[in-house]
Amino acid sequence: MKDTLPKASLGYFPTPLIELTRLSKTLGGPNIYMKRDDNTGLALGGNKTRKLEYIMGDALAKGADTVITAGAIQSNHCRQTAGAAASLGLECHLVLGGEEPEQPQGNLLLDKVYGCHIHWTGENRKGEDIPALVAQLKAEGKKPYVIPYGGSNELGAVAFIEAYKELNAQREALKVDFSYIIFASSSGATHAGLMLGNKILQTHSQIVGINIDKGEMDKVPFDEHIVSLANSTAQLIAADYQFTADDLILNSDYVGDGYGVIGELEKEAIALTAQNEGILLDPVYTGRAMGGLIDMIRTGQIKATDNVLFWHTGGAPALFAYADDLDIR
Ligand SMILES: *Cc1c(COP(=O)(O)O)cnc(C)c1O
Repeated sequence: MKDTLPKASLGYFPTPLIELTRLSKTLGGPNIYMKRDDNTGLALGGNKTRKLEYIMGDALAKGADTVITAGAIQSNHCRQTAGAAASLGLECHLVLGGEEPEQPQGNLLLDKVYGCHIHWTGENRKGEDIPALVAQLKAEGKKPYVIPYGGSNELGAVAFIEAYKELNAQREALKVDFSYIIFASSSGATHAGLMLGNKILQTHSQIVGINIDKGEMDKVPFDEHIVSLANSTAQLIAADYQFTADDLILNSDYVGDGYGVIGELEKEAIALTAQNEGILLDPVYTGRAMGGLIDMIRTGQIKATDNVLFWHTGGAPALFAYADDLDIR
């Protein structure tokens, strides 16, 4: 079933799988491997590239000429959607929460470089204003296609089943088994897809999402949302799996003061990864997830004998918008 889904080619795959030997040594911890989805090749990279290959494939198959999506000011999903739309010749509308800042930075700067139409929606931060925009664009004779928040629907999850298979082939070539696969989880399709991949390939890794947000998705608590997305995706690919809450590992120990609020955990993780490996994490997602991994190593939840895979989901362009929060001057 999956192979019959339309797909647009947007990135360069497989992304590299590398070993972080210097960081592992500094932490006195396990062997840490990293899947470099910060190097997908589209619009400075990130995990949304994979989802967008299926979502844009669907949009094109349905005859869309315009795409709409929503996010935060520093949304990596919006930035990659902007790049994807430009490369496919589609008009792009971004519905961004908050107010327009005086000077665009980071992801927002790139959205503008890509020539997107940006709609500022104040307190409406999760795309509440999209229906009105759809109606307006239709009245103008356009064929709009709405991409869900974070690209997290069944198509986005299918992309991460495929990503899991890609990782697994690399893992087998290295002859290593991962006890844990750790990544930042925030709109759910990365998590749901990796859970399904692990199930399909029977690899028995622990799929550990580090929760980035305190919130919910589509008015459903985030943990329930991930499980239900994994189940509806299993249905889409005609796989006979039924996940329950017991199958989900969502670690919410590191949400701190909430989405995009940078603390010591993120600062240290960003500095350690940059200064030991030359690899850039981002303040909102991967910095927090790596901070969680480091803490799990220090508190003995992860043993020095384990092999751990950290899935780098991208996001470094946001660094440029967070100089103050990172205390970098
Ligand atoms: C969107 C995003 C995530 C979370 O992925 P979801 O599939 O939305 O849970 C993690 N890291 C970065 C950098 C992201 O942009």
